[in-house]
Amino acid sequence: MNSSTHRTIIVGAGFTGLFTALHLRHQHDLRSITLIDPQERFVFKPMLYELLTGELPEDTVCPTYKELLQGSDITFVQDKVAAINLQEKRVHLASGPDHTYSYLVLTVGSIQGYLGTEGAQENAFAFRTRENAIALEHQLRDCLQRASQTNDEAQRRALLTFVVVGAGPTGVEMAATLADLLPYWYAQLGGNIHEIRIILINHGKTILAGDVNAGLKENALHAFRTRTVPVELILGVGVKSVDANYLEYQPVDSAERKKLLTQTTIWTAGTAVNPLIQSLKSQIRADHLDKHGLPLVSPTLQLLDFPEVFAAGDCADVQSQPLPALAQVAYQQGANIAHNLIALVRGASPSPAHVNLRGTLMKLGLNNGVANLLDKVQVTGKPGDLIRNATYLEMLPTPLHDFKATTEWLKEEIFHRYHRPKLVSEAVAKQPPLSPAEQRERSLVKALAILAPIAFLIVAYFGLRTPPSERLRQPQPNLPRQSTP
Ligand SMILES: Cc1cc2nc3c(=O)[nH]c(=O)nc-3n(C[C@H](O)[C@H](O)[C@H](O)COP(=O)(O)OP(=O)(O)OC[C@H]3O[C@@H](n4cnc5c(N)ncnc54)[C@H](O)[C@@H]3O)c2cc1C
Repeated sequence: MNSSTHRTIIVGAGFTGLFTALHLRHQHDLRSITLIDPQERFVFKPMLYELLTGELPEDTVCPTYKELLQGSDITFVQDKVAAINLQEKRVHLASGPDHTYSYLVLTVGSIQGYLGTEGAQENAFAFRTRENAIALEHQLRDCLQRASQTNDEAQRRALLTFVVVGAGPTGVEMAATLADLLPYWYAQLGGNIHEIRIILINHGKTILAGDVNAGLKENALHAFRTRTVPVELILGVGVKSVDANYLEYQPVDSAERKKLLTQTTIWTAGTAVNPLIQSLKSQIRADHLDKHGLPLVSPTLQLLDFPEVFAAGDCADVQSQPLPALAQVAYQQGANIAHNLIALVRGASPSPAHVNLRGTLMKLGLNNGVANLLDKVQVTGKPGDLIRNATYLEMLPTPLHDFKATTEWLKEEIFHRYHRPKLVSEAVAKQPPLSPAEQRERSLVKALAILAPIAFLIVAYFGLRTPPSERLRQPQPNLPRQSTP
C-alpha cells in the first residue's frame, strides 16, 4: 500500500472544506494542505436551480477545483475517502493509498435521505449535485418533448404532471421555479401550457415548517399562486411509494391510499448522514453523537475526544448550539477552522466559532425572489431576486471567479434577458423578434426600472454581504516554509 504523510488533510471540498483551505492560504498558513473530494467540480448549491434553468453557465455554478485553486499550493486529490482511523490518524482512499495527518478537517456534508420510502431512491430525482441537475433537466425536457408529440390524452397528462416531494426550502424553490420554467420550455415546443401541473407534496400541514425560512411562508404561497402555472399543494400526506410511472400517498389522518400518475417525482424531503461519518460510529463514544448520529463538536469545532480533528458544516453538530444546515453557516465555520488551525500551530488556544445568520434568500420563480434581511425587512419580486443573485455571486470563492461570474450575470441581466420572449404564455413565446427601435425603447424602460430601486438595493445588499474579515483574496503563491507543525 502506498503511504504518504500530509500534515493537514481536509476531507470534502464543499462549502466548509473549500473555504477552510482557501482561508488557510489567504492567511499565509505554511503547512502542506491536502484537499480530498471525489468530484472534479465544486457545487455552489444555492445556485443549482440556475444551472437547471440555464440562467447561469455551468462554470459559474460548478467551477472546477483546478480553476479555484490556481496559484495556490493546496494539493487537490480527486478521490473518495473510504475509511478513517482516528486513533492512528490515517485516512484511507477508495483508490488504495493511505495518508496520515497531524490535523484532519472533516467536511463531507450530508446525503439525500428517503425516509425509507419504497422505490424513492430508485425512481425519484434528487437535487443536490451537478449530475442531479443535469439528469433532471434531461428528464424535464424529454417529458415535455414527448407530451408535445402525443395525442394520447392520458399519457400526456402523466408526462405533464411534475411532483415535488418535501415543502422545505429546496422543495419550495424547486416548485416555484418549475412553475415558470416548464411553461416557457413547453410553449417553445408548441404545447398548451395550461395542461402542465406542478404539485408540491408535504407530510406536514404547512410549508417551510421549522425552517429558518418559515417567516417567508406567505411570500412563497403568494408566489405559488402567481407563477405562470400555479403550484398545487397536497399537504398533510405521507408518500408511501414512488414508481417510474406513479406515486402513491396517504393522508396522515386516513387509511386511504391515493395514486398520482407522473413520470417525474423530484425528492427533496430529508437528509441522511454521510456514510463516511456513519462508519466512524464505532470510534466515537455513543454519547458524543447527536440523535441523528452526527458527531458532536466543541464550540471550537473539534471532535470531543480527538481535538486534532475538526468537523463542521452538514456533517457535524455543535454541542449545545444546534445550527441550521446552511451554506452561510458552513462557510463561516470554514473560516473559523482555518483560524483555529493557525492558532494551534502558534501554540495559542482555538476560539469558539461565532456564526451570524445574516438573513435568508429564496428563489421563488424565474426573475422572482425574496430577500429576508436580518428578519426585519423583506424585499420581494425582481429586486429580491437581484439581491439574492448579487449576494450569492459575491460569495463565490476567489475574487477572480467572483468577478467573472458577476460580469457574466450582469451582461445577461442587462443585454439579453429583455430581448428574450417573456415567460408568460405560448402566445407571447411565439412573438416575432422586436425591431431595433423597439428593442432600444424596451431596454431604456427596463434600465430605468432597475435604476429606480437601485439605491435601496445597494443598502439591502450591503446588509447581507460577507464582512471583509471573512472575504477571500486570490490564493498566494507558495512562500518559503517557516514552520511546520
Ligand atoms: C438545492 C440546494 C439548495 C440550497 N440552497 C441554499 C441556500 O440558498 N442558502 C444556504 O445557506 N444553503 C443552501 N443549501 C444548503 C447548503 O448548500 C449546505 O448547507 C452546504 O453545502 C453544506 O456545506 P458542507 O461543507 O457541509 O457540505 P457540502 O457543501 O455538501 O460539501 C461536501 C463535500 O464533501 C464531498 N464528499 C462527500 N463524501 C466524501 C468522501 N467520502 N470523501 C471525500 N469527499 C467527500 C462532496 O463531494 C462535497 O463536495 C442548499 C442545498 C441544496 C441541496
